[in-house]
Amino acid sequence: LVRIRGLRKSFGTHRVLDGVDLDVPEGSVTVLLGPSGSGKSTLLRCVNHLERPDAGFVEVAGEIIGYRHHAGRLHELPSRAVTRQRAQVGMVFQQFNLFPHLTVLENLVEAPVAVRGLAKAAAAERGRDLLARVGLAGRESAYPRELSGGQQQRVAIARALAMEPRLLLFDEPTSALDPELVGEVLAVIRDLARTGMTMIVVTHEIGFAREVADTAVFLDAGRIVESGAPADVLDRPSNERAQAFLSAVL
Ligand code: ATP
Ligand code: MG
Repeated sequence: LVRIRGLRKSFGTHRVLDGVDLDVPEGSVTVLLGPSGSGKSTLLRCVNHLERPDAGFVEVAGEIIGYRHHAGRLHELPSRAVTRQRAQVGMVFQQFNLFPHLTVLENLVEAPVAVRGLAKAAAAERGRDLLARVGLAGRESAYPRELSGGQQQRVAIARALAMEPRLLLFDEPTSALDPELVGEVLAVIRDLARTGMTMIVVTHEIGFAREVADTAVFLDAGRIVESGAPADVLDRPSNERAQAFLSAVL
């Protein structure tokens, strides 16, 4: 579903992604690990074109994000077309980023109506189903501030699902949570994996990675230095940096 080739991105003279190649098959879960500053968030942000790569490309479902092929060359897409592409890629951040002035249900209804042109009633019905799916049936009228961090993050996941994405990106979805709330959010992500949702998850939850990931990828200084089955990458990495990092977080 996702094909990343030769991806490079610099900020000023700092090369943050230094030639990343990655494939994510449909229905699979890839866990992305690596030290702080290794480029994990930047890589995710390139996948939905929140960052524009300097070189290389990201292809999702056969389309190069942000560009189209024409006469053998790549042409930048107008922002409306990028918005349409981006609707296929949901993203969940460390800070839940819900709209604070909207109720839970309004948070779920907003984008499907505005971006996908869904009727309000249909979006609301779907929103209620999704809330039930993340264990929050009956909380549609609550405001984000009235919910715990774990509940807010589950709303954020439901909001991403409301767009019916082909791919979900998670950037450290449990890092901002109190320890006792981590489990309920991981349970929702685990459940999504079971239903065959394609996901790329940045996380330091190694136990979760071992259990849910089809592929684990270790990023160091903007390069993938280790990639494969979680048991191999997490338990017997050959790369020295990966060994040091994993023994520190385990
Ligand atoms: P963390 O584990 O701390 O979240 P990360 O692996 O997600 O780290 P990135 O956020 O991708 O790392 O950042 C990689 C490097 O790029 C860092 O050195 C960061 O300071 C730098 N960087 C990221 N975004 C920008 C930006 N918009 N402008 C300048 N530098 C940036
Ligand atoms: Mg990050």
